[in-house]
Amino acid sequence: MTQAPLSNVPNTAGRFGPFGGVYVPETLVAALNQLETEYTRAKADPAFQLDLNNLLGTFVGRPTALFAARALTDHARSLSKSGEAAHIWLKREDLCHSGAHKINNTLGQALLTKRMGKPRIIAETGAGQHGVATATAAAHLGLSCEVYMGSEDARRQRLNVVRMELLGAKVITVDSGSKTLKDATNEAMRDWMASVDNTHYCLGSVVGPHPFPMIVRDLQTIIGVEAKHQCLGAFGALPNAVVACVGGGSNAAGIFYPFIDDHAVALIGVEAGGAGPLLGQHAAPLCCGEPGVLHGSLSYVLQDPAGQTADVHSCSAGLDYPGVGPEHAFWKDTGRVSYTSVTDDEALDAFTLISQREGIIPALESAHAIAHAVHLAATMRAGQHLLVNLSGRGDKDVDEAHRLIEARKP
Ligand SMILES: *Cc1c(COP(=O)(O)O)cnc(C)c1O
Repeated sequence: MTQAPLSNVPNTAGRFGPFGGVYVPETLVAALNQLETEYTRAKADPAFQLDLNNLLGTFVGRPTALFAARALTDHARSLSKSGEAAHIWLKREDLCHSGAHKINNTLGQALLTKRMGKPRIIAETGAGQHGVATATAAAHLGLSCEVYMGSEDARRQRLNVVRMELLGAKVITVDSGSKTLKDATNEAMRDWMASVDNTHYCLGSVVGPHPFPMIVRDLQTIIGVEAKHQCLGAFGALPNAVVACVGGGSNAAGIFYPFIDDHAVALIGVEAGGAGPLLGQHAAPLCCGEPGVLHGSLSYVLQDPAGQTADVHSCSAGLDYPGVGPEHAFWKDTGRVSYTSVTDDEALDAFTLISQREGIIPALESAHAIAHAVHLAATMRAGQHLLVNLSGRGDKDVDEAHRLIEARKP
């Protein structure tokens, strides 16, 4: 019997193997069904694809560049025992309008919102990047926009609160629980239960109940589709390996998915190893978690022995989430993608390295991917190629990175 290709998921029940599904209150089931129906129609509608592609071209600035990172490659060579290393290539999602890959998703979902005849869009945000990307798409497409944000996050990420407000969005701060992303997500879901008739909930990663993990993956797949084409143009082959950081998992899913059935291409996801391996010190559910249900789907979750969702830590706010998308859980268990983690310290070293050697200040999230990529390239051969998703730029992180770098000085 031939096996179905791994790309042929989710099934009609929204399952990626055993993972995914729809674990939500009854009131949301109709809205999720409507969203799936509308999305299936939109995907097959050339007018929708044309609108989206026009926006991706002229508003976001796609295609983003594929960049030969010669200094990082030299550095990998200097670390290598053999003196050889793979060529490191960066997919420059940091060049996207609003600073990261997130806009690929929010524009698609905002267009869907308009198709469904809904005038209002809501979102959850942690560091504020998804909130800013949603507010940007909403402003451009004339939707009213409200963003839920934990009050602790709003305090730490003041600049993004101001950006959202300048874009015409309303930021609703959440004071419950740990006053961070998990609590903001709960509030956004509660809002949606009461407002589904006129409101779309724009989820920010490949998480949540079906059909969100599929929709967000599809919208981010532009990253991998472009990169595959660009690799063939630049070095006439597929890369030997692809590396991306994993928070909820959307930038990684976007760059991995077009390579999933190319089994010669190694795929590696990098989670936030934070301050150390103890529960509460990191945000690495695939490396350290157990299967569980969080925010409407079954996937790997960091939980304490009583089954309560654990606290998480990472220097990068975009990776600071106790769950991960169900398709990654599927890829982990099938062995198609391997997952590892990088600590705060290693990410900070990579942040400095790429800033000073390539002249690119990366997002702290993306610095996790760079840190692993440099070490991996040093174990590879000279004629090989390693593709890294540089998911976003570091403007948002300059204060925090500066503080952490100063704090490390003796
Ligand atoms: C939000 C964010 C991430 C993490 O989210 P994913 O869904 O895992 O991609 C990574 N990089 C950047 C720059 C981000 O803004």
